[in-house]
Amino acid sequence: METDILIIGAGPAGIQAAIHASRKKVNTVLVGKPSNSAMMEAHIENLFGLEKIVKGGDLLNIGVEQVKRFGCTVILQNVVSMAIDGDTFHIITESGEKIYSKAIILATGIARVKLGVPGEKEFFGKGVSYCASCDCNFYKGMIVAIIGSESEAAMSAELMTKYAKKVYWVSETIDADKALETKARTAGVEIIEAKLLQIKGSKAVESIMIDDGKEIKVDGVFIELGGKSSGDLAMDLDITPDIDDTIKVNENCETSVKGVFACGDIAGKPWQVAKAIGQGAVAGLSAAEYVKSLK
Ligand SMILES: Cc1cc2nc3c(=O)[nH]c(=O)nc-3n(C[C@H](O)[C@H](O)[C@H](O)COP(=O)(O)OP(=O)(O)OC[C@H]3O[C@@H](n4cnc5c(N)ncnc54)[C@H](O)[C@@H]3O)c2cc1C
Repeated sequence: METDILIIGAGPAGIQAAIHASRKKVNTVLVGKPSNSAMMEAHIENLFGLEKIVKGGDLLNIGVEQVKRFGCTVILQNVVSMAIDGDTFHIITESGEKIYSKAIILATGIARVKLGVPGEKEFFGKGVSYCASCDCNFYKGMIVAIIGSESEAAMSAELMTKYAKKVYWVSETIDADKALETKARTAGVEIIEAKLLQIKGSKAVESIMIDDGKEIKVDGVFIELGGKSSGDLAMDLDITPDIDDTIKVNENCETSVKGVFACGDIAGKPWQVAKAIGQGAVAGLSAAEYVKSLK
């Protein structure tokens, strides 16, 4: 198969890029599984135009049908490798299909780093969260623990003091920026220098066990350990991800390689749907303009 624009990743960034690119009447193919998007299990309330909390999975399903209406081909598969072929590119999907394209948009997202303790998986969405800025509002007046040693954890802990009645920051070491750590402490965050061993509860999170044998009553656990991307895929195109595994883009969502664009979580923080959609629109338009300039 041959196309003008190939978008890898069927989350909000890739879907929005597909909408904007295909409406510019360039051939567009979207490859990815919406079911693997970070948004799939999210309950969204911080997006313009929503009157109530909306399931991320519902928005993704609507989005996939929407891009098809604009003429975009959707392939529900993972990409296993990519390569540069002179002025063009090709990818190989998990079923072995080879697709050639004049431009590529990387919208492969970020996977939140997991802690790997008992209870983490079981209580995901029932008190375990990987995004304080997404879920803060659901913990008004409750007791929460933030897990993670770095600045991201410090910022999340400080943010949660504005919602929760008590915030613990649990970590064996504190490696955050000193100013952010002080800000969190000043806001009333209680730091517990210990290792989290287990998240406990019945239907939802009720407590955490730490390595000094103590059990602490909490309603929510925010795991703030950063993210990991499909950066190795980008390396197939001679793009080296940054130290935090994200890909640098300019204001047009162009990467360091001509004809390759990136948007959404993989292109840096904030890891939020609104930013993914905004960058998706920019990447879709930039790629369409690029392809038209080749003709
Ligand atoms: C539990 C949870 C709750 C959240 N709540 C909110 C919220 O309330 N508000 C908010 O704004 N944000 C929220 N977020 C963050 C939000 O979901 C992300 O910022 C957003 O989904 C990023 O969009 P994206 O398209 O860049 O990446 P993603 O949505 O992660 O999509 C990436 C896509 O790339 C695909 N992909 C990856 N590798 C490959 C490959 N090799 N081949 C093909 N496809 C590939 C994936 O399958 C997926 O389809 C939440 C996140 C989580 C995890």
